[in-house]
Amino acid sequence: FERLKRGLSKTHETIIGRVDTLLLGKKQIDADTLDELEEILITSDIGVKTTVDLIRTLEQRLKRNELQDGEAVKRALKEEILQRLLAQHSRLDVSGKNPFVILVIGVNGVGKTTTIGKLAAKYRAEGKKVLLAAGDTFRAAAAEQLELWANRVGAEIVRHKEGADPSAVVFDACKAALARSSDVLIIDTAGRMHTKVNLMEEMKKIRRVLTREIPEAPHETLLVLDAATGQNALSQAQLFKEAAQVSGVVLTKLDGSAKGGIVVAVSHEYTLPIRFIGVGETVEDLREFDPAQFVDALFE
Ligand code: GDP
Repeated sequence: FERLKRGLSKTHETIIGRVDTLLLGKKQIDADTLDELEEILITSDIGVKTTVDLIRTLEQRLKRNELQDGEAVKRALKEEILQRLLAQHSRLDVSGKNPFVILVIGVNGVGKTTTIGKLAAKYRAEGKKVLLAAGDTFRAAAAEQLELWANRVGAEIVRHKEGADPSAVVFDACKAALARSSDVLIIDTAGRMHTKVNLMEEMKKIRRVLTREIPEAPHETLLVLDAATGQNALSQAQLFKEAAQVSGVVLTKLDGSAKGGIVVAVSHEYTLPIRFIGVGETVEDLREFDPAQFVDALFE
């Protein structure tokens, strides 16, 4: 919890710092106070839709005399954010499929390879057999980095030469995962800046191969977003959600960023479950997302 809190400290200072200045010690909550709170939330990357929804709810609770002072409004804000996170929340459960197939997507630089390495480490630590597929065949460095992770955590890897067809890598990886009875197959994909059309074409091709080789695969399409990029991350969420059948999200680099509010926006506004959050560079810093823990770390 302390690690998480440290990771979220910049977001805490920026959002909750301003909320505290506005609300704490205030005996009377009027329309102006709510306007100012709305302004704080909108500039905190929580998203306009979610902010309006939160403010409306607080307004109603004030009208019903449920909230007497600033402290009560702050507590209510925390409760309401938590409720909205819980409504979208579900854990990624990789058990019961052999292999469970995770297709990892996202633009270059967001932390995709690192996230795959950390996930592989996590599943290895649980005693699972992990196979990585180096589906980003456009950058030799991506496959090399993935291989380093594989060696480091004791996972297997399927990789082809630079420029190879990603679908061929996926095909071989499926065969290998079945032959070696892997528990989890994690597939890296190319992260060139995407247009919706070529993204859809690429995904279709990979999915066709996957589904043919392993029924129901991919079981999870995991979108990696860099929280520090704020609004950019949100437009990526929109694009990939429409074009790539995203089923879960990893938000990286929450440490060192004041834009942690986008956790709320991605979850509530884009109705995507957050599976993991990255709050640092080490393996332990990729954490399973826990809404209650998250709001505690954010508010306290
Ligand atoms: P890719 O191009 O999407 O595969 O990105 P990489 O996995 O190579 O990551 C890019 C950089 O982001 C690397 O230096 C990582 O160490 C760093 N990174 C990834 N996740 C996190 C995180 O949660 N926090 C911090 N501080 N850095 C991260």
